[in-house]
Amino acid sequence: MESIGGGPGDAAHTSWLELSAGALRHNVEVFRALEGGKGPSGALGVVLKGNAYGHGLSQVLPVVHGLVDILYFIAPQDALRVREHERAQGLAPRQVVVLGAVAPQEAVVLAREGVEVVVADRGWEAAVPVLRAAGLARPLRVHVHIDTGLGREGFTLEQLPGETRFLMDARDVLEVVGGLSHFANTEDVTEQGYALAQVDAFETGLGLLSAQLGTGRVLQRHIAASAATLVLPRARYEARRVGISLYGLWPSAETRLSARLVLGEVPSLRPVLSWRCASQVVKWLPANAYVGYGCTYRTSEPTRIAVLPVGYYDGYPRLASGKAHVLVNGRRCAVLGRVMMNHLIVDVTRATPDERPVTATLMGRDGEESITAEALAGWAQTIHYEVVTRLGAHLRRVVVE
Ligand SMILES: *Cc1c(COP(=O)(O)O)cnc(C)c1O
Repeated sequence: MESIGGGPGDAAHTSWLELSAGALRHNVEVFRALEGGKGPSGALGVVLKGNAYGHGLSQVLPVVHGLVDILYFIAPQDALRVREHERAQGLAPRQVVVLGAVAPQEAVVLAREGVEVVVADRGWEAAVPVLRAAGLARPLRVHVHIDTGLGREGFTLEQLPGETRFLMDARDVLEVVGGLSHFANTEDVTEQGYALAQVDAFETGLGLLSAQLGTGRVLQRHIAASAATLVLPRARYEARRVGISLYGLWPSAETRLSARLVLGEVPSLRPVLSWRCASQVVKWLPANAYVGYGCTYRTSEPTRIAVLPVGYYDGYPRLASGKAHVLVNGRRCAVLGRVMMNHLIVDVTRATPDERPVTATLMGRDGEESITAEALAGWAQTIHYEVVTRLGAHLRRVVVE
């Protein structure tokens, strides 16, 4: 059967994502070059949650598996895909850590697969008898989450060491190998006072935990995500959990500013993702014609439009209506009227000389112009993290060099 669906060189009317393997490798190199470098004293981890930040786990995993030391996930079933990939490709197993919630039965599967988990609350006590009943060959390796000021997961300093005492009685099935925390406010500021207070709290919490575990236990410590890894050297410790920036995006403009101050230069991150769409039709509308639902746009002169078969179903934010641009032949083209479920209408009067099909770039570079994830997020009154993670899982993704 012939396959249908969009893609480069494919006339079908749909959009696709291009993922640059070269950009991913480059971004890994940027992080490897930061002080701390390679090896057990400076493990680089990639965060692959949210379908690899919307980039596509199936496409990103084979590229990053050999480049980083640790793979972090939220969902257990995603983490298990690493082991499937390794078995299929005959690769040595990487350190894999599930940061999110895990049900007791899932914990059994993860233990058998050598996937590590995060214990962030006493709910884990319920998993202990289930793990014992499973007769594991090796205990499940766990990282203890310390809530140092995000107010999300983790044991607060007040809860330590009382609330983690159950771990001491469960050493046969739960082996504590690490301690982690997560920052609340590293991206929105250039002044890291709150983050430094969190680092202090982290060290206090780790001290309490180590005392409880007894001497001789070396914990893998990790608190830094992209921003802190870049601009807060004190927070790098043994492992870093880098998400957005391995995909080539700055956590924020503030982080970029701070990088200049802290590192002396701004590392060049390369966006991994481009989003393109072949036109469904290119045609002329007369002057004074309405465009799209709600008749929110009316042409003031004869206008050549391209109807693009992509919309908010695919992850193109409806809030970008009336503000966004796409690129056609290296030129910026305004999105006219409202973003629809499966359609966008753009003004290509000056971008193309005739009514032949065009390819639009919704995100990414085309010639001298580019539309960044940040720009699209700005039009949609949100952050680029949300824009990329909302890219539909159904979109075709192709890895390019
Ligand atoms: C998402 C996440 C990260 C990665 O954050 P980035 O800002 O994308 O680098 C790290 N740690 C935890 C716990 C997270 O939830």
